[in-house]
This record gives sequence, C-alpha cells and structure tokens, in this order.
Amino acid sequence: MATATLQPYRAYSPKPFTKDERGQVTILFGGLHWRAERVLQAVLENLGYRAQVLPVATKEDLLRGREVADIGQCCPTSFTTGNLVNFLRSEAERIGKEEVVRKYVYFTAGSCGACRFGQYHQSYELALRNTGMEAFRMFLMAQNQLDQGAAIGDGLEINLPFTLGAAWAVLCTDVLQNLEYQVRPYEVIPGQTDQVVKESVEYLCEVFRNRPLRGKKWGSLLWHLTTGYFTKALREVHRKFAAVEVDRLRAKPIVKITGEFYLQTVEGDPNHNIHRWLESEGAEIYPAAIAVWLDYLMRLAIQDIEEYVGIDRRARLKVAALKTLQRVYRWQYDRLRHALGGQPPALPDQYELRRLAAPYFHHRLSGGEGDMLVGKALWAYHHKKAHMTCELSPYSCMPNTMSIGAMAGVVGKYPDLLYAPLEIKGDAEVHALSRCQMILTEAKKRAQKEYEEVLERTGLTAERVRGYLDAHPEMKKATYRVRRDGVVGTAANLVLDVARRGGGR
Ligand code: SF4
Repeated sequence: MATATLQPYRAYSPKPFTKDERGQVTILFGGLHWRAERVLQAVLENLGYRAQVLPVATKEDLLRGREVADIGQCCPTSFTTGNLVNFLRSEAERIGKEEVVRKYVYFTAGSCGACRFGQYHQSYELALRNTGMEAFRMFLMAQNQLDQGAAIGDGLEINLPFTLGAAWAVLCTDVLQNLEYQVRPYEVIPGQTDQVVKESVEYLCEVFRNRPLRGKKWGSLLWHLTTGYFTKALREVHRKFAAVEVDRLRAKPIVKITGEFYLQTVEGDPNHNIHRWLESEGAEIYPAAIAVWLDYLMRLAIQDIEEYVGIDRRARLKVAALKTLQRVYRWQYDRLRHALGGQPPALPDQYELRRLAAPYFHHRLSGGEGDMLVGKALWAYHHKKAHMTCELSPYSCMPNTMSIGAMAGVVGKYPDLLYAPLEIKGDAEVHALSRCQMILTEAKKRAQKEYEEVLERTGLTAERVRGYLDAHPEMKKATYRVRRDGVVGTAANLVLDVARRGGGR
C-alpha cells in the first residue's frame, strides 16, 4: 500500500489581501514581548489597519503545533504554529470557519535562512491544512527589506512609513524594557514598576497611534531621523519612572539572556517564563534587545557584500553606504536611550562580537543568531556586563546546537565564565530551571563577594552607604543612573558611586 502522496509539490500561495478589505479584515501577529507587540499594533492602527496581537503562546499551543505540523520541527515553530491554530479554532467555534477566513489574515517574519526559519510557510501551511483551514491567508514578510511594495496584495503596504514605524516601535520598547528590568528587582513597593511600565506602554501606544505621516518615501525617512517626537515621549516615560523608589543595596547577580531570537524575546510558557523566574530567584536580568538583532542583520548584509570586494567594482561603495546606515541606526538607538536618562546600555559593537566569536564560530554561519551567541557571552564576560549568561536554546534547533558546541571551547578557555545553556522544549521545565539554578547559585555568591570586597576596599559599611542615600533621596529614585565602573553588580557599583561622591567621609 502506498504511504506517500504522489501529488507534485505545490508552494503555498494564499489569495491576496486587498486594499478594499482593509476596513473589515484584522491583521494578526505576535511572537515578540508584549510591550513591542502593543506598540506595533498602534503603528498599524496609525496607518489605518485593523490589528490584533495573538495571545502569548502556551503549552497547549506547543502540543497543538506538534499535532498539526511537523513533529520534528524546532520548538519555536511548534509554539507559533500551534498558537495560531488554537486561536483560529477558538474563533471558528465562535463565528464559524468561513467568517474566520474572511475576517483575519496573519503576518509574520520570514526569510530564506539557513535554519527552519526558511521553511516557516510550509509548517504553517501544513498546520492550516490539518485544521481544515487551508483557505486562511498567512503572509511572510522578508525581514531584510525596508520597502517590499505590494508583494502580498495591496492590503498591507510594506513601505517606509510602515517599516520605520515598526523599527521605532521596537527601539522605544527595547529601551523601556531594559530600564524596567534594571528597576523591578530593587523596587521598594512591590508591583510599582509593573504599574509604571503598563502606563508607559499605553502612553507610547497613543504616541505611535498619533504619529504624523510625512509621505511614503524620503519625507518619512527624514522625519524619523530628525524628529524629537519619540525622544520627547521617552522623556515623559522617564518622568513616570521617577516615582518608583528603589533599594539598590541588595546584592543581586546580573544574568544576561541570550539564545534563539523567539525564545530570548517572548515572556511566557515558550521559555518557562524565565525572566520572571530569574527575578523571583533574586537575579537582575540583562534582557536581549531586539535592536541587537536588527543591527546584526545589517552586519550580515555588509559581510555578504564584503565578499565581492575585488570582484564587483561597486562593492566598496555599497559597504561604505551600509556602514553609514548602520551608524545612523545606532545613533538613533543612542538618542532614545539617552531620553531615558542613559540608563539602558548602548548596543554591543557588531564587529567586536564577530572578532570575539571568530576563534570559535565562523561569521559566515548565519543560521539563527549565528556567531552572536558566542560573541555576546564573551562580550558580557570581558566587559563585566553580567555575572552569568543564560542561553535559551530551542529543542531541535540546528544553529543553537552548533553554538552550544562552540561554547564548550569558550568555557574551556575561560573556566570562570558562568554559562547556563538551557535546552527549551516546552516540557521538562524542572530540569531546565534546576540546571539554571545551579549556575545561578554560583553567580549569587560572586555578586555577594564582589559587593563585600567593594565595601572593604572603600572602607564603607552598608549602614553608612544607606545613611548617605537617605540624605540624598535623588539616588533612591529609579531614574538615578548608577555609574558602572569596573565591577558587575548594581549594589557594588552603587557603593563605588557613593565613595566617589565622598559619601564615606
Ligand atoms: S533558529 Fe532554530 S529555533 Fe529558530 S527558527 Fe531556526 S531552527 Fe527554529
């Protein structure tokens, strides 16, 4: 008996999403952290679309993804396909399949990457087919093109106002997320940071919903590069954070989150709620900014063209142009983080990451995060950015398996680099978290030791530092910027800060 279909291969080609449908059709999307998703929704609304964020993926979604798509696919694909299918199913029960197909379209990022990312459309198609919803329209947007014209019908125009709005939404919420993670572990009144963040995200949604539109090409680009519209909004967010009182004299380990893009970005079941879990275990998180990924994409493009220097006469010119674009991008990021008092740190230099990773991982291996996982772990170690690195590695992910292998060489050379690679597959949560806890225990000891050494070195006591802070209440505000100087932990840096200000005398 034949077990395989003899039908020829047919690429998934959904019916186009047209301009006339904009008023009735809702664009579904998801897969980032909630702050970025909310503000991206506002960007779409600003451009006249109806948009809805999918709920955060759950373990039920993972099981559904395994059931309706390829069982061997990587766990982010299972989570995201299951998430979409479960949402469509529940909507179909409510309003019927035909109405779901008519009322919604789904947009997600795609590429022809070296990993399964390049086959996402096939996984989604299989899942839709197995759910009896093959007529549902799902579109992949190339992640490396600023202006894609009307490649998917003229319903969604992926033009500069859309792309720039999305990019600025990501940058603004990145810096906000970073400040949030620096503040919450030290808040004096539990829950106050969450409240301020919620208000700030709502406020940013308003700002992006009312974003002035300045044409579809150069006018829009020029406006985004020169406007004070977003920095003014972030200064307002900074003012909101000033209301949060913090006690930064609690010695906590800083944990840098790295890993596969989806797992390091989402906050929920897909990564065992690792951000909240680490905080509840007494850590301060150094989150993974989406902006670093965008910077990496630019570096990849530059690397590609560099290969043609000596072959293509215009290659050098193209490299110079792209490097200028990259510098402008980083300058914009700096403008936004400075609007938040300069507390969110600068982006790591992409060429330094490449150089650090080079002995262990070739920069042309571009699947997943490529050489960045190795580069970021070494960067955090050499620059004293974190006590430990927690790498979230998806089950059945080829690129991450390679970087974890390469990290064995790194840890062999730097045995005191605390590195916790966690294989994430949705289940086996206790196993993954207990592995992390073992390394975290060592990181906690280091943070405490570093704090005590700094007290000894400066001749201060915790009581004297506390007394100084009481006399200088501006230093107890979440918006006070602690200077980072030669040690890792926030408490240790604060003691040095107080000593520098003459607090010991
Ligand atoms: S990087 Fe890994 S987890 Fe992410 S899409 Fe590719 S194969 Fe899947």
